[in-house]
Amino acid sequence: MRIMLFGEPGVGKGTLGSRLSEKYSIPRLSTGDLFRAEIAKSTPLGQKVKEYINSGHLVPDEIVLEVAKQMFSVDYNNGFILDGFPRTVPQGEAFSAILKEHDWKMDAIILIKVQIEEIIRRLSARRQCESCGASFNLVSSPPKVAWVCDKCSGKLIQRPDDEPQVVRERLSVYQEQTNAVVNYYRRKGLLKEIDVTGLSVNESFESLIKLIESS
Ligand SMILES: [Zn+2]
Repeated sequence: MRIMLFGEPGVGKGTLGSRLSEKYSIPRLSTGDLFRAEIAKSTPLGQKVKEYINSGHLVPDEIVLEVAKQMFSVDYNNGFILDGFPRTVPQGEAFSAILKEHDWKMDAIILIKVQIEEIIRRLSARRQCESCGASFNLVSSPPKVAWVCDKCSGKLIQRPDDEPQVVRERLSVYQEQTNAVVNYYRRKGLLKEIDVTGLSVNESFESLIKLIESS
């Protein structure tokens, strides 16, 4: 099973991707995770990537593609879930070439959607422990005591990029970046869209499975 997921921050793409990965026993491939690993190891590539990210710039296509090539040097015979790549049309075209090389076809390319007001509600409900990094959500997984970590009694904080105004900015940046590549797959007739506004994680997951298995 080869699945590609698109979705704005806050639609639950990471959680749904992990659950798909478990259900089908296939790895979740994320260029973002690879970038973080390269940065942590301080490789020359990691240092380059870090400069772009720290200066608020997008990582250029050529570097993303270098990482992607590395990512696909492994033979994923059972398939994979792709998250966060491709982000641009040139990356999409390069990925088509990678698919061809391996003689692979995508089973599903999916855009997960949630109405903006709900995204803002979901993200502004997130809390993180200052000490141990544990994550909470006031709606879906609230701490026992407000602003106190269940695990270590540390202080809970709201990440600055989860504040409503910043969330709106993050959403518009995401749309600006990915609209073109989403349209690229839509024009090819390959894109399936699913709106999970108002659905719980379990309900979203069930709808997603139905959509994938109907392909
Ligand atoms: Zn904690």
